[in-house]
Amino acid sequence: MSETLPVAIVGGGISGLGAAHALHKAGVPFRLYEAAPRLGGVIQTDLHEGFVLEGGPDTILAQKPEGLALARELDLTDRMVGTNMEQRTLYILTGGRLKPMPEGLALAIPTKMWPFVRSDVFSWPGKIRMGLDAVIPPRRGEGDESIASFMRRRLGGEALRLLGEPLLAGIHAGDPEQLSITATFPRFVEMERNHGSLLRAMLAAKRAAPAAGASHGAPGAQGGQGGNGRGPMAPFFSFKAGLGELVDALVARLPADALRTGRALESIARDESGWTLAFAGGESVRARALVLAIPAPKLVPLLQPHARDLVQLLETIPFVSSATVLIGYRREQVAHPLDGYGLVTVAGQRISTMALSFLSTKRPGSAPEGHVLLRGFLGGARDPDVLRMADHSLVAAVIGDMRSHLGLSGAPLFSRVYRWPQTTPQMTVGHFGRMEQIDRLTGTLPGLFLTGAGLRATGIPDCYGDAVKTAEAARAWLG
Ligand SMILES: Cc1cc2nc3c(=O)[nH]c(=O)nc-3n(C[C@H](O)[C@H](O)[C@H](O)COP(=O)(O)OP(=O)(O)OC[C@H]3O[C@@H](n4cnc5c(N)ncnc54)[C@H](O)[C@@H]3O)c2cc1C
Repeated sequence: MSETLPVAIVGGGISGLGAAHALHKAGVPFRLYEAAPRLGGVIQTDLHEGFVLEGGPDTILAQKPEGLALARELDLTDRMVGTNMEQRTLYILTGGRLKPMPEGLALAIPTKMWPFVRSDVFSWPGKIRMGLDAVIPPRRGEGDESIASFMRRRLGGEALRLLGEPLLAGIHAGDPEQLSITATFPRFVEMERNHGSLLRAMLAAKRAAPAAGASHGAPGAQGGQGGNGRGPMAPFFSFKAGLGELVDALVARLPADALRTGRALESIARDESGWTLAFAGGESVRARALVLAIPAPKLVPLLQPHARDLVQLLETIPFVSSATVLIGYRREQVAHPLDGYGLVTVAGQRISTMALSFLSTKRPGSAPEGHVLLRGFLGGARDPDVLRMADHSLVAAVIGDMRSHLGLSGAPLFSRVYRWPQTTPQMTVGHFGRMEQIDRLTGTLPGLFLTGAGLRATGIPDCYGDAVKTAEAARAWLG
């Protein structure tokens, strides 16, 4: 252990790799340590007989500039695949029936009047209550609130049950009563603040969009211009061989001898010249600056001996577990047209599946000709014990939930289960306030930098963006 590295990065997900990429471009030597045998963290793509299996994230939101910028920088634009622009229906399973959500729904806000009025997803009182958003005065005060409180206040209880829980909280696999609206959907807060109403903000964004020619209108806007400047851009994108291409391209740009997998960090110690990292198996290394890009629950035991206050705050960031179940069929085994991105389910029904993506429709090229690929999503705040179920039970649960609604017949060609223990952060009410304190307390430990999902960011583009900023802070600190 004679050498002292300028920077050690721990965690090889998009956050750790993003920090490594930024340091490498700036000419700062580093070494990255990852506990698993592979890099990418929750980004895990497997190719199976012509199917592209995404075990973790399946697409990147195009509206966030960081993801597109990274794809361009890694020369991946010719490999990009946008999500299907023709078949974008989202279904909802409610009251035992599968119904299409009205056209023009931008995340949780209707942007087209007639499809919404004609839709049988919402009751008449529910629709009228949602319409009242246009006249209900905006909230006074700056304090944070939950997704549930925000939705109830602006759009009513039915909108919370049919949109807020399955769609908004569902993106974070979370409980709408707990999740912070400011941390998860800041645009909604801005819309209320700037326009006094979500519906009015949407209309203003729609009016402005053609003039501005930009995609940065409404949250979850379905399309728009942008990306390569060659015309309409899909709302989400991936790559021909899946998101694994992004990880491979990032790794290919980094010096191979700076990447160490199979190294789980067990403890850290600090003295005036820097940090000493001890890994499982006995290896240790010294570094002047330490970038930890691992989930908060994994930070807790490492930081416990150094900063109790900081640890107490990190413990307030809960993480939930989930599972994804990928199932392949021949096209004729599925009666449903699968003419959309998939379906969400309403809580409180006797089903385990929270959402199901029609991946072969949503992301063209995910399945070979004449085949379909479905992906069930289970667990999260709705079912915290989901990972107690065996693989075959998870597969049976998804097929059982969907058989009659999608008209599934016969045994699937294959199924594969991916387990995600404690990997999805819950940014709960007051998150950003606590984050300010976390940042302040981290600053009292010289040379320590924290990034990763659940702190200042979540999702691939934001995690990458935060990692780049964190790497810049580490470089500036090194001088
Ligand atoms: C099922 C699922 C679906 C998702 N879908 C999407 C989507 O479609 N689009 C999107 O943008 N985002 C999606 N997300 C969120 C997004 O994938 C994550 O926010 C992001 O990838 C997190 O990256 P990260 O590097 O911060 O964390 P991770 O990917 O969790 O990486 C952390 C790494 O740290 C390593 N590690 C932990 N402890 C140690 C230790 N002691 N020593 C060494 N290494 C350690 C872990 O092994 C892991 O590789 C999804 C997430 C999940 C779980």
